[in-house]
Amino acid sequence: MKTKGLRTNKINIVTLGCSKNLVDSEVLFTQLRGNGMAVTHESKKDDANIVVINTCGFIDNAKEESINTILRYVDAKDAGIVDKLYVTGCLSHRYKDELEVEMPTVDAWFGTNELPRLLKTLRADYKHELVGERLLTTPAHYAYLKISEGCDRP
Ligand code: SF4
Repeated sequence: MKTKGLRTNKINIVTLGCSKNLVDSEVLFTQLRGNGMAVTHESKKDDANIVVINTCGFIDNAKEESINTILRYVDAKDAGIVDKLYVTGCLSHRYKDELEVEMPTVDAWFGTNELPRLLKTLRADYKHELVGERLLTTPAHYAYLKISEGCDRP
């Protein structure tokens, strides 16, 4: 997928919330790399023209952090720094219908179980041979293990 201008596409994945979200981001990261795409995680540089925010929808503070992060990238899109902005994760899963009305600048919203649709939107194939594979974003001496779906926090 080429976005406007002659920029080479690079995807930055931004992860909020708990270790389950981090695992989901690592799976997305792996699939995108497996498709030969340029992808970073939590890049602090403004060097990615496509951003995927993996949100948390737990308590109010976490929701607020997710909304503020989305708004920061909405501003980046308005400023022409970002071409495409996608939101996934728990907040998007729960409030997608309301949020897409409130924030039309976001190009698409995804639920927590919509990895294939997210990949398709990013022009990537869902690679079955990579199921169970993860490129880790944590330091080399530890990794999270996801043992269930859904939020454990009441
Ligand atoms: S809503 Fe729950 S499962 Fe989702 S990121 Fe937040 S704490 Fe994790």
